[in-house]
Amino acid sequence: MSDAGTPSKFISFTFYQTLVLMNTLKKTFLTKSEIKAMDAEHKRKLSFNIGKYNEVVVKGKQQFSDLDMARKKAKNIKWKTIENLGEYLTEFERNFTRNGGKVIWAADAQEANEAVLEICKLYQAKQVVKSKSMVTEEIHLNDFLEQHGIESVETDLGEYIQQLDGEPPYHIVTPAMHKSKEDVAKLFHEKLGVEPNLTPSELTLIARKNLRAKYQSAEVGITGGNFLLADIGGVCVTENEGNARLTTAFPPVHIAIVGIEKMIPSVNDLNLFWPLLATYGTGQNVTVYNSIFTGAKTAQESDGPKEMYVILLDNGRTNLISDPNIRESMYCIRCGSCLNACPVYKNIGGHTYGATYSGPIGSVITPHLKPFEEFKHLSYASSLCGNCTEVCPLKINIHGMLHYNRTLAVENHSSEFSENTAWKMWKLAMTNRKMIDLAGAGMKTKVVHAIFKNNWFKRRDGLEFQKSFRQLYQEKNTK
Ligand code: SF4
Repeated sequence: MSDAGTPSKFISFTFYQTLVLMNTLKKTFLTKSEIKAMDAEHKRKLSFNIGKYNEVVVKGKQQFSDLDMARKKAKNIKWKTIENLGEYLTEFERNFTRNGGKVIWAADAQEANEAVLEICKLYQAKQVVKSKSMVTEEIHLNDFLEQHGIESVETDLGEYIQQLDGEPPYHIVTPAMHKSKEDVAKLFHEKLGVEPNLTPSELTLIARKNLRAKYQSAEVGITGGNFLLADIGGVCVTENEGNARLTTAFPPVHIAIVGIEKMIPSVNDLNLFWPLLATYGTGQNVTVYNSIFTGAKTAQESDGPKEMYVILLDNGRTNLISDPNIRESMYCIRCGSCLNACPVYKNIGGHTYGATYSGPIGSVITPHLKPFEEFKHLSYASSLCGNCTEVCPLKINIHGMLHYNRTLAVENHSSEFSENTAWKMWKLAMTNRKMIDLAGAGMKTKVVHAIFKNNWFKRRDGLEFQKSFRQLYQEKNTK
């Protein structure tokens, strides 16, 4: 009998836990949002960096004779790829394996982390170097390796700064966007014991010196991948510092961990995707270093790893692909443009979202990569102004999908009681002329103030209803 009783207790306990977690995450999000939105210094740093980005992007766009056509073509290629992803993944595996590489399929973060650990054990690795990769942030690889006694060192300068500070990246392209050069100088002084007030060039040289030693001693180099190339079985890595090249050149083993949606059909498609990513990511015509890895070094090559592995990560991506309403989110090339354009991101910053992928695209995909209930509030972190969709190089209908997530929350009956009640009352009043007229201006003022006293009116002047639209209309038309 006790067996029969356990599941229902378990279910109600799990439901309760979800409810608590859901409310905690939402409350944390709202509290942090309020703090950041009022932090003038934070806003100043973000505005400064986003301002610089806006200036250079305009120049980058000039390289396209028909930018609109380029964006449409890129979207079309990603549409074709995601619609036939199974075939392209198989083609990639066949070609990469033929080149001597090894492909590992990981259904979730646990499988991907375990696979990395197994490889590290195989090569008795105690230290790995890693270039910038959002996927490794997503699976929390550094923490996992650390728990198993393996040091993982970030080699991208922004990521290195963030790692020193014990913080996750702030932005998918510029991880330390929220820090000024003074902040970085202070951090280096505190963590590395160097002189305070060093210049950016001096700080870079210190990071470079420290990292050089790590490249030489690490047994494994880990990268992400900006694109997977089906026709040649290649992994593309785009960067500006050359750290990914060193990460893959020195250690005897290279592991690339890449989300399955990063596929494009052919190496020839890079002539479109490389400039598009560079323009929208950093305003460059093309990023400084673009590498294509097709396997371990051959007998004719003097440099490169002896072994190369590609871990193809799902981790919830097939959830997004299986729903035609949200599938388009998998066309994303992680340029960060929608973050820079979003009025919400610009006010609350990256960490507030409490998720690896922040900003508009993060708010679209996170509720599907994680339990929907716990992260559905992110879909409301948008004014639905559509600026994200406007600036996306792939013309992804981001604000449309944020709206779709809200619809899902309502259809799943997972919106809050207070919200449901408010909308029911609204509907009742809006569809009933007598009810609208019943409440006079004084009553309306009181009701609106009572409802919004804890949020809207906390930092705004009160408002007073004078006359209804109907009264004004009648007055105007009876004169
Ligand atoms: S959704 Fe579009 S704009 Fe946003 S990061 Fe992805 S590609 Fe860039």
